[in-house]
Amino acid sequence: MLGQQDVKLLSVVVPCYNESEVIGRFFARVIPILESIDSIRFEIVCVNDGSADDTLGHLVDMSRQDGRVRVIDLTRNFGKEAALTAGIDEALGDAVIPIDADLQDPPELIPVLVARWREGAEVVLAQRASRACDSLLKRLSAAAYYRVHNHLSELKLPENVGDFRLMDRVVVNALKHLPERHRFMKGLFAWVGFKAVIVPYEREARCAGHSKFSGWRLWNFALEGLTSFSTLPLRSWTYIGGIVAFIAFCYGSFIIARTLVFGIDVPGYASMLSLLLFFGGIQLIGLGVVGEYVGRIYDEAKGRPIYLVRRRYQERRPVSQMPSGRRVIELNGLSRVSRGGK
Ligand code: UDP
Ligand code: MG
Repeated sequence: MLGQQDVKLLSVVVPCYNESEVIGRFFARVIPILESIDSIRFEIVCVNDGSADDTLGHLVDMSRQDGRVRVIDLTRNFGKEAALTAGIDEALGDAVIPIDADLQDPPELIPVLVARWREGAEVVLAQRASRACDSLLKRLSAAAYYRVHNHLSELKLPENVGDFRLMDRVVVNALKHLPERHRFMKGLFAWVGFKAVIVPYEREARCAGHSKFSGWRLWNFALEGLTSFSTLPLRSWTYIGGIVAFIAFCYGSFIIARTLVFGIDVPGYASMLSLLLFFGGIQLIGLGVVGEYVGRIYDEAKGRPIYLVRRRYQERRPVSQMPSGRRVIELNGLSRVSRGGK
């Protein structure tokens, strides 16, 4: 028998952006599952990421009916990574599970994740057994991405693992010490390390609504991941430049030698122009890669908070008792949350 002290608090963190079609179904499916787990109290921390539809209304209604549902309303759309950060910051549980609102991460897996956690795992990763519900293009690009990332970066991302996972409080506390504004959560989760076990699952199709991640957004997400965890694209320009300069030197020596032996050879407009364009292109690509990093340094240097909270519903503690390492400034009713410093 488990005693009262063994009852643990589980926080389920749900980023929601324009999910009014699915949110009712989400609660209807998740709550009975959470209630069925022995010796667990739970809270569902919903982060409204600046939805333009009635998502907030649905969430607030739900939190009024059920005290275990808390709602964090952000001032605008900050993106999934920021919304997830907000939810994880606010979660009070002994373990935290981020989950998508669209029921693509099956809540039926939560009891399995909890069981592995009780067996001693600090992180329980839910790994997609197949990508059958994705388009061919998405499958190919995902496979290529993991290959490129894991080759370029020291940090190895486990393949086909998303944000759906269980993290023990020690892991969550470690995560909260990572100060960066550009938050590639999958990478940050992997970066903190800890003992992980993997549980396979079948990912379902979105239950309603549509994906917020277009091709362009996914491309930027991939760039975010690469630049956050590898400086190889930046450093590689030393070697590319070295190789090009070496080839140029050899070719230049050859031209000089040929001119000395055979005299001046005037034609060569086409080859001059193509070489000029080729090197111009190479330099611009190099500059672009440097720009990707400089832009991120600029964003980090500004030190703006990752998100702003408009209001919390079902708040159980005073705003001043915010998660450690952050400061809270009350601004015209807005709580501005930032990290450390003065
Ligand atoms: N999401 C969010 N902010 C955004 C985009 C998405 O909070 O700017 C949430 C969204 O509501 C959902 C989760 O992130 O709960 C995953 O989004 P989506 O299903 O669109 O992504 P996909 O499953 O297609 O990768
Ligand atoms: Mg989805």
